[in-house]
Amino acid sequence: MRPVVLCFSGLDPSGGAGLQADIEAIGQAGAHATVACTAITVQSSQQVLGFEPCNSELVRDQAMAVLNDLPVTAIKSGMLGTTDNIKMLTRLFANKVVKKNTPFVLDPVLVANSGGSLGDEATLVAAFEQLLPYATLITPNTHELRALSGEQDLHTGAKKLCDNGTHAVLVKTSHDFDSGDIEQYLYIAGEMVHKSVLPRLDGEFHGSGCSLASYIAGRLAMSDEIVEAVKAADTWITQTLKAADDPHPDDVQAQLIPNRFVKAES
Ligand code: PLP
Repeated sequence: MRPVVLCFSGLDPSGGAGLQADIEAIGQAGAHATVACTAITVQSSQQVLGFEPCNSELVRDQAMAVLNDLPVTAIKSGMLGTTDNIKMLTRLFANKVVKKNTPFVLDPVLVANSGGSLGDEATLVAAFEQLLPYATLITPNTHELRALSGEQDLHTGAKKLCDNGTHAVLVKTSHDFDSGDIEQYLYIAGEMVHKSVLPRLDGEFHGSGCSLASYIAGRLAMSDEIVEAVKAADTWITQTLKAADDPHPDDVQAQLIPNRFVKAES
């Protein structure tokens, strides 16, 4: 069968972010997505109205049903929502329930693009400390990198996370809306190995971070190297954003929904 990615992510009813983004992106990368749902959010394309986390036993049971059944070749996490969920996922790695050397892409979701809370930031950051060393790649925006590393300087922060055991860090300036083009820096084992510059398209996008991280996870499941997977994801995400759907064309503040079914440009 196609390589299988197990995602830990929340439901976004608007279909822009969360587990729907993961399923679509991983499918486009050529792999099969499975999901342990971590939370049910209540949100539109524009704002988070609330969320109800799933208890960590329920999340673990969902994950075990998949792990005991399907040949999982990569793991991806997005919104985990509670420290219990972060600790439960940490135990799956620590107790080798997830096979050693399974690529793990960790998107350290703290807040939604729209600014809405998806968990208490300080407690999530503290719990992430134990999980980060198991990550093959983490994909923080600049705010998340500073929160997780405690460093203001991006280079120092990325190096620090690698020193603490994370294999690779992809830092994105995508949420720095007053900056020009989007820059992404990929660090592997503490060294910057790749920089990409993507055009900053007009508008804000709902679920772009989830889509990017999941596409990379899909490619790693298909045996790509990290640099190759990131380059492929950059090309793909730019196409999905150029073709994004705009539910509120008259409102320039509204968020657009990436079109993850866009046909690749030839
Ligand atoms: N996961 C869920 C369930 C969400 O609802 C959101 C944002 O709304 C995210 C993750 C993060 O989304 P983004 O990729 O826009 O940062």
